[in-house]
Amino acid sequence: MERRRCLASATPSSQTGSMALTISQPAHAIMLAAAHRAAPHEACGLLLGSASRIEVAVPTTNVAPDPARHFEIDPAALIAAHRAARDGSGAQVIGYFHSHPNGLARPSATDEASAARDGRVWVIVAATNDGADAITCWRDGADGFEPLSYCVVQG
Ligand SMILES: [Zn+2]
Repeated sequence: MERRRCLASATPSSQTGSMALTISQPAHAIMLAAAHRAAPHEACGLLLGSASRIEVAVPTTNVAPDPARHFEIDPAALIAAHRAARDGSGAQVIGYFHSHPNGLARPSATDEASAARDGRVWVIVAATNDGADAITCWRDGADGFEPLSYCVVQG
């Protein structure tokens, strides 16, 4: 099996055998750009792909009443993506991404409270103006958010 070269990666220290994710380089770049464009508001969007691979990140409007502190994905974009996945014209919606302009590199208390516990992937982009960006990946599991390791790959 060919070894993949990771352009960027993270391995949570508390990892207990969680499945690793692959993120395409374009999806990784789009999430970082969206986070910086939205600051000081939170960016958010959909993650499309299959199983354990994030192929495409689709930034959507943050329709939360207080977008500097919360995120809420535009429901119309969410419905359209689910419809496209069912039609077979779009990739599966495997999860969501959002940014933390305050630099918190893990789910916030609000995220914990709004989690659906449905097994989807959450990517959190901790983006600060000093350029110290950190992307962390989580699975919204039945027992709470589990950290996921990831590898960003070309193409
Ligand atoms: Zn959050």
